[in-house]
Amino acid sequence: MKTKNIYDLDPERLATTDEHGNRVYLYPEDVKGVWKSRRKVFYWFLIGLYLVLPWFYINGKPALFINISQREFTVLGSTLHGVEPILFFLMLASGIFLIAFITSLLGRVWCGWACPQTVFIQAIFLKVEALIEGKARERRELDKAPWSLNKIFKRSLKWMAFFLISLHIAHTFIGYFVGPHELFYMTMHTPSDNWGVFVATMLVTSIFLLDFGWFREQFCIIACPYGRMQSVAMDENSLVVSYDMKRGEPRRGAEGIDKANEGDCINCYNCVKVCPTGIDIRRGTQLECIACTQCIDACDDIMIKLKKPKGLIRYSSENQINGKPRKLMTFRSSVYVTIAILFISSFFYFLNASTKLNLVFLRAKVPFQVIEDGRTVINHFTLKLSHQGKQRFEVDFDVADVNLKDKIKIVTPIHPTIIDSPDKKIVLFFKISPDVLIAGTRKINVKVFDHLTNEVVAIKEVVLVGPSY
Ligand code: SF4
Ligand code: SF4
Repeated sequence: MKTKNIYDLDPERLATTDEHGNRVYLYPEDVKGVWKSRRKVFYWFLIGLYLVLPWFYINGKPALFINISQREFTVLGSTLHGVEPILFFLMLASGIFLIAFITSLLGRVWCGWACPQTVFIQAIFLKVEALIEGKARERRELDKAPWSLNKIFKRSLKWMAFFLISLHIAHTFIGYFVGPHELFYMTMHTPSDNWGVFVATMLVTSIFLLDFGWFREQFCIIACPYGRMQSVAMDENSLVVSYDMKRGEPRRGAEGIDKANEGDCINCYNCVKVCPTGIDIRRGTQLECIACTQCIDACDDIMIKLKKPKGLIRYSSENQINGKPRKLMTFRSSVYVTIAILFISSFFYFLNASTKLNLVFLRAKVPFQVIEDGRTVINHFTLKLSHQGKQRFEVDFDVADVNLKDKIKIVTPIHPTIIDSPDKKIVLFFKISPDVLIAGTRKINVKVFDHLTNEVVAIKEVVLVGPSY
C-alpha cells in the first residue's frame, strides 16, 4: 500500500488541526527566490519606518502621534483636533472601502506584504527561531524530543530573545500614543511613577510575544476580521496566488496516469512545506492563504531544476488561469472605489466646514492667588484653543451660569480673542469672589461666543480653586 505523505493534507479539516481538533504546530521551511528577496526588502523598509516614525518630527510635531485623551491625531506635521464622531466614522468608512477596493484588485496583498503579523513573524521571529533551534526539520525534532539540558537551553534562549524583541516593538507602539520622548523619560523612572503606561506596555508586549512567538498562523486563520472579509471583496478577476491546474495536472503519481501524460507538477510538496499557514495551494484559492508568495518561489525553484517554465504557481486571477482575460476594473471594484471617494470627499467637506472649537484649560503652576485683602481669588490658566476647519473666529468669554456673572469675571489680554490658526494658546484669568467657592472649589461652565453675532461656539467646564475656609 502506498504510504501517505505527511504533507498530503486531509480534505476534511484544517492543516493546523489533527483528527481530534488539537492544534498541529507548523514548521514552515525557508525558501529563497525572487519574491522572497522583494518581500525581505519591503519588510525591512516597513520595520525601519515603524521604528523611526515616532522619533521623526515635522513642523515640530511627531510624524505620527495619536493622542487619545485629547482626541488629537497628528500625521506628517498636521494635527486633527478633537476628532468629532462624524469625522472618525468617515475616516473609518473610507479606510474600509479603500481596503475592499485594493482587495478586489490585488487580493490579500496586505496580508502577505504589509500586515505587521506577517512582517514581524517572517522577517524577525522565524529568523531568530531558525538561528537558535535550526532549520524546519531540526525544529520539528526538537519539539518531539524529551526535555533535556539542550532543549531547555534552546527554548529558554529563544523565548528570552522573543521577549526582548516584543518589548522593543511594544515600546515603539506605545510611543505612538504617548510620544517617544515622554516614553523614554518614563522608562528612566520606576513603574510606580506611571502605572498606566507601564501596565499597557507589558500587556502589549505579552500580546506580541504570544502572537508572534506561538499563536502565529492561528490568528490569520481564526481571528483576523480582514481574513473573513476578503472573500467578500474578491472575485474571479482579483489577483491571487494561484496554481495553474491546467498545466500542473495530472500531477506525478496520480493513479492510472502514465509518465507521458503527466502535468508539470511533480508532487514534491515543496509548496506545502514552505507555507506558513500549512495549506496546499493546489486545492485552489483558500481562506487561509495570506498571499505570502513562499509557494511561488518554492515551485519556481523546482521548475528551474526541471528546465520548465517558471510560474506553475504564480500571481494570477481565476479568469487568467482559465484562459480568459482579466478585467482590471469590475463592477464590484468600481462600486468600492466610488463609495471610498464619496466618504473621503465627505471627510474633507466636514473637516473644512467644521465650526467646532476645542478648549483645553491648562492650570498654571500656582493654582490660585488671593488679592485685595482676601476679597478676590485669582485663578490663572493657559487656554489651548484648536479647531479643524478653515474658519477664523473672533470670540469673547463669559461664565455660562447667569447667577455667577457678577461673582466670577473672565479676563483675557485682548478683546475679542482672534483665532486664526488651527492651534492657539492664550492666557486667561478668573477673578473670583471667594463666597462662590464651596470647600475651596467651584465647577463652572465657560461660554465662548462669537464677538459679532453672540452665537455660542463652545462651552467648556473648568474647576476653579481657592482657599478653603
Ligand atoms: S512545488 Fe510545484 S511541483 Fe512541487 S508540489 Fe508544489 S506545485 Fe507541484
Ligand atoms: S498558499 Fe502560498 S501564498 Fe498562500 S499562504 Fe501558503 S505559501 Fe503563502
